[in-house]
Amino acid sequence: MERILEEFFELVKTDCISKDERKIADWVKPKLLELGCTVEEDDAGSHFGGNTGNIFAVLEGTLPGSVLFNAHMDRDANGFGIQPRIEDGKVVSDGTTVLAADDLAGVVAILDGLRRIKASGKPHCRIEVVFSVSEEKELSGSRYFDMSKLQSKIGYCIDSPGRIGRIVAGAPSGAQLKIEVFGKAAHSGNGPEKGIDALKYAAKMVANLPTGRLDSESTANYAIFHAGGSATNVICDYACVLGETRSRNHEKLLQYIEKFEQYCQQVVEGTGAVVKTEADITYKAFNVTEDQPCIQLMKKVYDKMGLTMLVETGMGGMDANRFNEHGIQCVGLASGYFNNHSNGEHIYVEDLIRAGEMVEQIVLCYAD
Ligand SMILES: [Zn+2]
Repeated sequence: MERILEEFFELVKTDCISKDERKIADWVKPKLLELGCTVEEDDAGSHFGGNTGNIFAVLEGTLPGSVLFNAHMDRDANGFGIQPRIEDGKVVSDGTTVLAADDLAGVVAILDGLRRIKASGKPHCRIEVVFSVSEEKELSGSRYFDMSKLQSKIGYCIDSPGRIGRIVAGAPSGAQLKIEVFGKAAHSGNGPEKGIDALKYAAKMVANLPTGRLDSESTANYAIFHAGGSATNVICDYACVLGETRSRNHEKLLQYIEKFEQYCQQVVEGTGAVVKTEADITYKAFNVTEDQPCIQLMKKVYDKMGLTMLVETGMGGMDANRFNEHGIQCVGLASGYFNNHSNGEHIYVEDLIRAGEMVEQIVLCYAD
């Protein structure tokens, strides 16, 4: 079995969840040190109840410039006890868990790429690696990564679904939304007019706020509703709704948030109820065009590998959002996985092996 595949099997069988990436980090660190990297771990996890930080590794080179590679160590929640096996040229789980190719494929591809570069003996530039934590939780890990450590102007986030050759060149802004309605409890039989029904107003907000696909580049969704009523004979005095909105156009995201806040206030106006809204913009949209160096370099890489380049945009946030926000031009690269975040997740063996080669070729083509 190819080493990259062996390592992939080993890592997916290692139990892990967002905020507890300890075992993966402890597995990855010695591998990076062995390759000659400097390795450090930050305290990102401590900001959100996690036990692991982002791993930052650097392999110094003799050529000028620097390239960044990124993958995340955590996985979707249903990722304990993964039993991977190969079926028809794909690695699959036993159907009761995810596979965690999202994003351990990225982790092993980067390690394999570094190993190939070392083995080639060819001169290379500085290579920066960020293995992040809690990416699946609103990119929480990279939120606390110290971007000033990075020298790279271009980067690759190996964390996108699709066959190898696919590039995700754009991703939306995302915001977490919270509505809290404060009413007043009263006996529903003896004095309903003395109460203020928080549940009713919260429900009205959810019923009338635009959701689903808002336009070609924006969506919104409310998914969690807590009513704080204590008994059916008491008017409900508290309700809370959690949702999210995303847009590839950051301005539109801001407009939605403004309307969201205004509408919630409007619903409670003159009712005696109080509403508190929160909108936490967790990541910002980016869009890298095909004429930019980051994608031009990939064109060379895929040509050399005999692969067809496919440039698309996605509607999911990824660590690439953060790097772009900090001035590093960064896109998502596919490593051959499909149906991530489901028990049907699988990855093409052929693509996974080529993903290591892709990392190597990025470094070699960058040098040219
Ligand atoms: Zn991912």
